[in-house]
Amino acid sequence: MQISKLFEQKSPVLSFEVFPPKKESPIETIYQTLDELHDLSPDFISVTYSAGGSGGNHLTCDIASAIKNKYGILPIAHLTCVSADKEQISAELDRLKENGVENILALRGDINPNVPRKYDFAHASDLTAFIKERGGFSVSGACYPEGHYESENLIEDILHLKKKVDAGAEHLISQLFFDNDLFYSFLERARIAGISVPIEAGIMPVVNKKQIERMVSLCGASLPQKFVKMINRYEHNPEALRDAGIAYAVDQIVDLIANGVDGIHLYTMNNPYIARKICESIGALRQTNV
Ligand code: FAD
Repeated sequence: MQISKLFEQKSPVLSFEVFPPKKESPIETIYQTLDELHDLSPDFISVTYSAGGSGGNHLTCDIASAIKNKYGILPIAHLTCVSADKEQISAELDRLKENGVENILALRGDINPNVPRKYDFAHASDLTAFIKERGGFSVSGACYPEGHYESENLIEDILHLKKKVDAGAEHLISQLFFDNDLFYSFLERARIAGISVPIEAGIMPVVNKKQIERMVSLCGASLPQKFVKMINRYEHNPEALRDAGIAYAVDQIVDLIANGVDGIHLYTMNNPYIARKICESIGALRQTNV
């Protein structure tokens, strides 16, 4: 099933993101995570892919395939092109197809000076066009409520996003954000620019200070005062910070759903406890049919 079709049947869609286990962790750890996430009945689960081409990328396809075949949940496999040429991308697409994975989140990936860059695909829109031309897949893309960090300004960023949608992206998932008003302004810009595909809001429950520092250094999300106060107040009390982070995410989600968001994409960080707490808090809010 195409992910984009889900949005014609349900509002809001609830999806999860997981990542393949690190080299030092056994593969079984992800299946323990998925066992628990499965019970929360997400509409789909996406699996990340390392832009650095770390040896574990074959796991993305394996895990996406298991999400479909073992857990009966719709999977979406992330795929990056910053360090891949057409031949490598074609091989990945062949493998995904063989494993019955029909939905791809097409990404450029971050430019890393330590990883040789390849230039068959300059932007995610080029990868999107390539996959659509080849056929057989439904393609999604990433978007940035606060603008991508390489963009000169928010208007330029939206115009680039429009190219991605025109190239064939049928659904968008947003970068994490902690201030819903920034997401609403972004949505307005996107709709004015003629981007009409479903846009899911990316929500990351923050559960420790290190995690937030890492995330902010990677994606530059701005931190509202009330969020900073929460972190500062509970940084030395891990359980309190975890509970406060969950409450903050729930607060964001309730407001987003009240404002008619197409979907919520939860960055689970492979932590089913947190996903469960959030799902319990928003249980009845998920019952709406389109
Ligand atoms: P693009 O859409 O190509 O955008 C990159 C920059 O180029 C932007 O500044 C954009 O404005 C500009 N641009 C785009 N098109 C054009 C154009 N035609 N002409 C000129 N400029 C243009 N990274 C991973 O390594 N693995 C993952 O699994 C992963 N999953 C992600 C999931 C989500 C939901 C999100 C939001 C991000 C994810 N990332 C992942 C991070 C992502 O790879 C980085 O943010 C990366 O820097 C940009 O990727 P992109 O696909 O958005 O690139």
